[in-house]
This record gives sequence, C-alpha cells and structure tokens, in this order.
Amino acid sequence: CGIVGVLGNHEAAPLLVEALKRLEYRGYDSAGIATVNGGKLDRRRAVGKLVNLSDLLVHEPLAGKSGIGHTRWATHGAATVTNAHPHRSGGVAVVHNGIIENFRELRDELAAEGYTPESQTDTETVALLTRRAMDHGASPVEAARDTLSRLQGAFALLFLFDGQDDLMIAARKGSPLAIGWGKGEMFVGSDAIALAPMTDRITYLEEGDWAVVTRAGAEIFDAENRRANRAEALIQIDA
Ligand code: GLU
Repeated sequence: CGIVGVLGNHEAAPLLVEALKRLEYRGYDSAGIATVNGGKLDRRRAVGKLVNLSDLLVHEPLAGKSGIGHTRWATHGAATVTNAHPHRSGGVAVVHNGIIENFRELRDELAAEGYTPESQTDTETVALLTRRAMDHGASPVEAARDTLSRLQGAFALLFLFDGQDDLMIAARKGSPLAIGWGKGEMFVGSDAIALAPMTDRITYLEEGDWAVVTRAGAEIFDAENRRANRAEALIQIDA
C-alpha cells in the first residue's frame, strides 16, 4: 500500500523498487511499476514480495527515466497479476491507494460505451475514464482533471502517459501524498520516507489537491481547480 513516482535523470526502475522497499512497512500483496522510455509506456507487475518484481525486472528489464510504482493491498479483486497496479488503458497508466467508492456505477457507464475492464479492481475505472476522455480529444492533463472530478472515495493517485516523458499527475483525497523536489528531477511518494534517498525537500499535497508534475517543478491545484501554494519543508530522514 504505497505509491512512488519519478521524473528523473537516471534509470527509474531501480529508484522505484528502492522507494517501494521503504514503503514495505505498510504491508502489500503485489507490486508493479510502469515507465515511459523513448515515449513508450510499458509496465511490469508481480504477485507477492518485491523480490518477485525485482526478479521479473532482471529477466524483462524496464528502461526509462520516468516511472511510477505501487505496492498493493487488495481491496477489490484478488491478489493476482491482472489486478496488480499499474492499471493501463490505451495511453495512460495509473497507480492508486485507497478505494473508489462509486466504481461500479463508473464501470457500468464505461462498459456501455465499450470501455471494458480487464481486472476486478476499482482502480481500473480510473484508467478507463482517463482513456475515454483522451479518446474524445482531451489532453492528458484535461483527461486526468475530468477523471478526478468523477471519483468518490479515498485515494492517492498517480498518472503516467504514453508519449509523455516529462509528465506525471498526482492527486490526493483521503490518502497522503508527498511531492519531492530535486535538481531538474521531481519525485512523488506516499510519504517522505520513501523519497529520503532522492530528496529531503518535500511538499505535502493537501486534501483534494492535484498536481501537474514535470522535471521543472509541480503546479498544484486545489479541489476547485484553483492554483494553490503549498509550503515546502526540509524533512530529515536517514536515507
Ligand atoms: N482499491 C485498490 C485495489 O484493490 C487499491 C488498493 C491499495 O490501496 O493498494 O486494487
């Protein structure tokens, strides 16, 4: 039950796995990462301990300096590879902690338009909603913003997009999420502990906030989509 994201200057996969290890204390039943490499979005997922994901990455490496990662504590759907995050639909990949309370209604609405899920999770509806908006011409940022406006429940979310090496969208409602500032690099994590090896400059999103993150920084918006200023703090944790 942890989330991490990297827009970095080094290979993302080892950083993501290391950060997920630092979130192991929260418990989990499966794990996965997605990266964008040369504009191409791809993912790897494994059930069980993080070492299973690491082993998979030895045999099927995932290159790229932009990525998102997740440890899952299943609430909807068994602990299987298909239900593990990141969830992908078309050009978007999503990791999520928490519960989308209205996912059944969203799933039925999407299925009626041919957007059928592959998994049993509540999370996949987030990927499908975003994909549908992009199919209808929305930009990645617009699609994520529209999707967030449809979600009820508690979540920390990260979105990563095919063809976008320098973009992550982060959102927080009921589950903490921290943005980490680097030099020409940006990070997102469930807490500052996950990000400690990468940065000690942290901005916590507030309830209902969402952020457009690029290597140049983070633009933070509140629940009413107004630009929000959130303080940056120095968090001292042993890396
Ligand atoms: N509700 C989601 C799922 O079951 C996310 C669970 C979590 O917080 O890891 O896949």
